[in-house]
Amino acid sequence: MSLNTANVAAPPRDLLGRLPRDLRLSVTDRCNFRCTYCMPKELFGEEHAFLPKSAILSFEELHRFAAICVGLGVQKIRLTGGEPLLRRDLPKLIAMLSSISGLQDIALTTNGSALVQLARPLREAGLNRLTVSLDALDDGIFRAMNDVDFPVHRVLSGLNAAIDAGFGPIKINMVVKRGVNEDQILPMVDHFRNGPFVLRFIEFMDVGSTNGWRMDDVIPSREVLQLIQTKHAVSALAANSPGEVARRFKLDDGSLELGFISSVTQPFCANCTRARISAEGQLYTCLFATAGHDIRALLRSGISDTEIASALRSIWMSRDDRYSEIRSHHTQPPGRKVEMSHIGG
Ligand code: SAM
Ligand code: SF4
Ligand code: SF4
Repeated sequence: MSLNTANVAAPPRDLLGRLPRDLRLSVTDRCNFRCTYCMPKELFGEEHAFLPKSAILSFEELHRFAAICVGLGVQKIRLTGGEPLLRRDLPKLIAMLSSISGLQDIALTTNGSALVQLARPLREAGLNRLTVSLDALDDGIFRAMNDVDFPVHRVLSGLNAAIDAGFGPIKINMVVKRGVNEDQILPMVDHFRNGPFVLRFIEFMDVGSTNGWRMDDVIPSREVLQLIQTKHAVSALAANSPGEVARRFKLDDGSLELGFISSVTQPFCANCTRARISAEGQLYTCLFATAGHDIRALLRSGISDTEIASALRSIWMSRDDRYSEIRSHHTQPPGRKVEMSHIGG
C-alpha cells in the first residue's frame, strides 16, 4: 500500500478556493551559474555559506513528503534548485518519485549545463518533462548573463542530448531583461522553430531581495509579443489547464509555440495551485513569501504520515497569498523575501 492512502479526505482548499496541485521541490541551494538576476556574484561569492549536507532533505525525506502531498491532491512535481543537476544521484530520486501512485507528472527545470551527461539517465529514471533556461544564443551575452563564462554551445549540445534521450516538447525559458538581452528575442524565435520546443518569455521578477530589481528593467510580455509580431503572424492558443501560468501563442505557420509568463504585468494568483519546498525543507506557499513552514522538523520528529498530512492541510487551508496581484512599489512585504535560488522559480 502506498504512503499517501493514509489520507482519504477531500483535497484542501486555501482561503481563495485554490487546490494544491503542483509541488516544486528544490533539491539543492547550489548552482554552477551566477545569473545576475538570480544569484549575483557579489552576494553569492566564495564566502557564501551554502547548506551543509545534513541540513538538506534526503531522498527518503523528499519521497515521503512528496507522497504525502500527492495524498492531498498534488498531481505534478517539478524538481528545481539552485541547479538540480548538481544534486548527486538525481536520477535515483526521480525513480523513487516515479513509484508514487497517483502522481501524474514529474518535470525538471535546469540550466542545461549537465544535460549532455544526464539527459539519458534522467529519462530512463522516469522524468517526463524538461524545461531548460536559456537567455541568449549570442555567446558573449550568454556568458555575461550566467556570469561564470559558461559557453552557450554546451547548453545547445545538452538540448540535443535531451532530444536524443526522447524528451519533447522541451520548454525553453528566457528571462528578458531590458538593456541586456532583448536583442536575442527574435534570434531565439528563429532558432527554436521547427523543433520539439516551446519558447517561453519570462518577465524579470522582483523575487528575493538581492537581484537589484527595478521596474525599469522589466520588458512587459506585451512588448515582447509586439516585437515578434513585427516578423511573424501569431495567434493565441487556449490554456492547457486551469492552473497554467503561461499565456500561449503559436506562430501561424505552425513552426513554434510561444509562452509568456507575465508575473509582473499580468499576475495569475487566482489560479495559483503551487507549493514550494526549499532544499532545507521550508515550505513556501508563495514565490514571494518572507517566511516558510519547517517541514524538515516535522519529517524528523518521528510523527506519522497522517499527522504530517494534517499539518500540511492546515497550512494550505490558511493560505491567502496573492503577492503579484497586490504588488506595487509601495507594498513590498516586510522582511526579506526568499531567494529564487532557494525555491527555484
Ligand atoms: N537552475 C535552474 C535553472 O536556471 O533553470 C533551476 C532554478 S532557476 C531559479 C528557475 C527559473 O527561475 C529559471 O528559468 C530562471 O531563469 C528563473 N529566474 C531566476 N531568477 C529570476 C527572476 N528574477 N525573474 C524571473 N525569472 C527568474
Ligand atoms: Fe543558477 Fe538557475 Fe539561478 Fe541561474 S537561474 S543562478 S542557473 S539557479
Ligand atoms: Fe502564486 Fe504567489 Fe506567484 Fe501569486 S505571487 S502566482 S500566489 S506564487
